[in-house]
Amino acid sequence: MSKQESVLEVENLRVYFPVYRGFLRKVSGYVQALEKVCFTMGKGEVLGIVGESGCGKSTLLKSISMLVPPTEGKIVFSCNGNFYVLNELTYHELVKLRPFIQIVFQDPFSSLNPRMRVWNLLAEPLQLHASLSRSKLRDRVEEILVSVGLDPSHVYRFPHQFSGGERQRIAIARALILRPSLLLLDEPTSALDVSLQAQVLTLLEKLKEEYKLTYILVSHNLGVVKYLSRRILIMYLGRIVESGESEDVFFSPRHPYTEALIQAIPRLDGEGRRRIILKGEVPNPISPPSGCVFHPRCIYKRGICEKKIPQLQDVSSLHRVACHRAEELKLAGLG
Ligand code: SF4
Repeated sequence: MSKQESVLEVENLRVYFPVYRGFLRKVSGYVQALEKVCFTMGKGEVLGIVGESGCGKSTLLKSISMLVPPTEGKIVFSCNGNFYVLNELTYHELVKLRPFIQIVFQDPFSSLNPRMRVWNLLAEPLQLHASLSRSKLRDRVEEILVSVGLDPSHVYRFPHQFSGGERQRIAIARALILRPSLLLLDEPTSALDVSLQAQVLTLLEKLKEEYKLTYILVSHNLGVVKYLSRRILIMYLGRIVESGESEDVFFSPRHPYTEALIQAIPRLDGEGRRRIILKGEVPNPISPPSGCVFHPRCIYKRGICEKKIPQLQDVSSLHRVACHRAEELKLAGLG
């Protein structure tokens, strides 16, 4: 992808959190939340990021939105023909760029201030970042409410007067009101029941075209990610273990962790898959396992897996995997 087309380049991103112990609060170790994460995104793309909780997905989004500053690496964001290294900008430079990168959190119950009316929730970002007349402000708020499928006459209601699905629509409207180019979606449907999930996904698909957006969609739900994303990253313990086009990753997975995630998706036809049960929890990121960090849970591990860290390697032009046995294993995908 040429530099001109890319919206976001994440280069060797590391995020470590210090762990303090004792009366003197000495640093006794580091939580390795993200380890050498690299990817590039083109304009209009939807990138899905999948993994269990604790794999670093949400930290990655917070890092891109600079809510969690990176420890090492670069986040390059392209906007109006200019390239910005986000983690080298000053606070004031970041504030100017803030409208272009917005984030939608998973829980609209806690992400919306319950004491603010919808009008204030939507008008506030505009008042902070743009100087619009009262009538223009009203037009923008009404326009965005219609776009997310809400009745503009409800603009003076409080968040608790809406259903869960409607609240998530308000959160999406608040993120879009400044017309961002990159929208970060952190489990946007996980707090909703299944019928509302489908409605919100359809809405996101429509808004992407309407507002010419680029999305990063984080979810533990492969079905949600597959619906919207053409490209997927699978993350485990802060590392990318597989990446590729959705079709390749779902139907021809090359990493045992991806296979286990896919095999855990329930099938509507009731047919059983060869279920690969992921035993145990994601290991402690303060002291990750040696070699391949997935080896304590991997049913295919060999001696080398505990000793040597597998690097991401190409298995085809757009499909990459970090597994010593990627060439020889025949893993099961969807289907
Ligand atoms: Fe499993 Fe070894 Fe591959 Fe890691 S490198 S996923 S332990 S086979």
